[in-house]
Amino acid sequence: MFSSEYERRIAARFAAFDQDGNGAIDREDFSVAAKALLAEFGVPARSDRGQALYAGAEAFWQGMAGIADRDGDQRISREEFVTGAVKRLRDNPDRFAEIARPFLHAALAVAGADGDAVAATVDDAVRVLRVLGVPQDVARTAVAALDADGDGRVSEREVVPAVARYFTVSE
Ligand code: CA
Ligand code: CA
Repeated sequence: MFSSEYERRIAARFAAFDQDGNGAIDREDFSVAAKALLAEFGVPARSDRGQALYAGAEAFWQGMAGIADRDGDQRISREEFVTGAVKRLRDNPDRFAEIARPFLHAALAVAGADGDAVAATVDDAVRVLRVLGVPQDVARTAVAALDADGDGRVSEREVVPAVARYFTVSE
């Protein structure tokens, strides 16, 4: 059992990144997430949207490694995540938004592009979060809250800060 609500939430964030559940966050977890999203929405890896998603996943991994992989072994251990990533991202949520944005932008495009304004329907945005390991009820509540004007769509402008808030939760 976790000793506090805060620790439970941090453990959930770690689990969301550790997509293959092997106890560490590494490059493979990000490509696993990209692959799962492409499969969920039936988008070929070799398409423009598929390549953009893989590029975004790599940039996301590089950004996270730069923040948290202190010993440089190309893996973010649970300890490195808690002592490095959580504290540094909490102190600088904008930095997290910056490193996550290309991946989230590409993920929304995979879920359903809408001309220049990249957006997805509420249902598709929930599917994205579900594939990334966010529980259904949490995903649905979060996405519904984002769709402030109730038009059934959420945009990158709304999603990026929300994801940054989720992962940079403070004590
Ligand atoms: Ca892993
Ligand atoms: Ca490491």
